[in-house]
Amino acid sequence: MPGMRPKLIIIFLFGGFASFSQTISSANTLARPKLVVGIVVDQMRWDYLYRYYDRYGNGGFKRLLNGGFSCENTMINYIPSVTGVGHTVIYTGSVPAISGITGNDWVEQLTGRTLYCTSDSTVHGVGGVSEFEGSMSPRNLLITTITDELRMATNFQSRVVGVSLKDRASVFPAGHAANGAFWLEDASGNFITSSYYMSQLPAWATRFNERKLIDSFISGGWSTIYPINSYKQSDQDNVPYEGRFTGEQQTTFPHNLRQAYAASKASFRNTPYGNSFTLAFAKAALEGYQLGRGNATDFLTINFASTDGVGHMFGTNSIEIEDTYLRLDKNLEDLFKTLDAKVGKNEWLVFLTADHGAAHAVGYMKEHNLPGDYFSTAPLVDSLNRQLNQKFQSGNLVRSISNDKVNFDLNKIFSSSLDFDNIKTFVVEFLQRQPGITMAVDIDKIGASPIPEPIKTMIANGYYFKRCGSVQIIPNSGLLDGYYKTGTGHSRWNPYDTHIPLILYGWHVQQGTLNRRVNMSDISPTIATLLHIQMPSGSVGQPIIEAIKTK
Ligand SMILES: [Zn+2]
Repeated sequence: MPGMRPKLIIIFLFGGFASFSQTISSANTLARPKLVVGIVVDQMRWDYLYRYYDRYGNGGFKRLLNGGFSCENTMINYIPSVTGVGHTVIYTGSVPAISGITGNDWVEQLTGRTLYCTSDSTVHGVGGVSEFEGSMSPRNLLITTITDELRMATNFQSRVVGVSLKDRASVFPAGHAANGAFWLEDASGNFITSSYYMSQLPAWATRFNERKLIDSFISGGWSTIYPINSYKQSDQDNVPYEGRFTGEQQTTFPHNLRQAYAASKASFRNTPYGNSFTLAFAKAALEGYQLGRGNATDFLTINFASTDGVGHMFGTNSIEIEDTYLRLDKNLEDLFKTLDAKVGKNEWLVFLTADHGAAHAVGYMKEHNLPGDYFSTAPLVDSLNRQLNQKFQSGNLVRSISNDKVNFDLNKIFSSSLDFDNIKTFVVEFLQRQPGITMAVDIDKIGASPIPEPIKTMIANGYYFKRCGSVQIIPNSGLLDGYYKTGTGHSRWNPYDTHIPLILYGWHVQQGTLNRRVNMSDISPTIATLLHIQMPSGSVGQPIIEAIKTK
């Protein structure tokens, strides 16, 4: 018996040591997912999740809804609700007042020059044929993104890649410190990038472009994926308020895409195949950069832009938009299966949201006696200048109206010592009297203005003095710019434009739903919390703590 004792002690020590070291190692190694995938579905209204719910398969939207965490009342908390702004807010947790991205385009208030949100004349296109489509960078964005913060938190070992048909929906999500951001150049049919990121395309991207996939996507035309009489959630196929592809005599299926593409290469964006093409490139990037298979957490941002193109052209109640979502559902299933296979079943984290929603077509609203009409701000510029000239003896004080804001000629106003406050008050009083306008406000005096929430906060959040006009117009509900005689648009504060889906799924995400209101700017702080990284430099959002699994 005494001879047994040392053995027992040894076994005890080893056993104790083993469990001790296990505890230490799990506490000493920070757990993070291998890959984060941010999915932004362009122009996806929140209600599309449920409008087509019965027709979705189990592997796409329903996989997210059933296995993930859905924030049912996620709202955009600024105006204008457009793509360039939406992508910056999603990926910065901030608002235009701080990020400086106040629209897809804006008028530089001090010079009167119009600037596109990602344009950068110091860089040039890489991988395409035109200079302009590649002269893009995130330099106009004044703050960091969640993807920048991930790069910094891992000493730049994380790889960050952005993919979209649209430059702005690839460049902003991928951030300032991205490894690459890629978008479609219509002229070549290539995914291109800019010299901001690299001097030539990676070999895998060149090989992808050489496959000329667009040709095979459009060759069969566009017919509905299921029998057309099964599209019970949609309007008739031949309503007059649907747009037409160039060369088409009517708006109905099947659509001849060869003819449309020959007439205008941009028309490819308005087909569901634009999403399939985007997915194919995202999968190539996953392989090319070996995302999710390195030493640190990687981040892939994907924007599916064709939902926006189809919506603008055919409207929210078209068979075309329903078909586009049913096909996107299959694209998502494909993506998630690929992530399971390449990254590992419980190793990735995804969020799906939208950059904005959309109004219903004006023709549809009128047909059903619902409030809606056309409204153009452009004619107001002339009448405003005439009135201002009479009152202040100075011509052309208003340069333009864009993003529903009045752009003033500030140089003229300040150099001739006119009273800017008086001018704005006069403009507000004039605009308030015009048909189609619910209210107008001098944004510098918004605190003292009788404007209900959430509109007041949305105006303030959207206001960055050097990059947008100082008088805000809020048009009546359901009004669309005159050029939307067919299809639809978006940009306003109304819920149809600002109620977006938000579903988190995968690594350390709680299963469930949340019905209280959250904001678009809460997304990045939530991802920062999940990843244990710093929130972006202009972040004002709150983490959605209900979505995060606690042990
Ligand atoms: Zn749009």
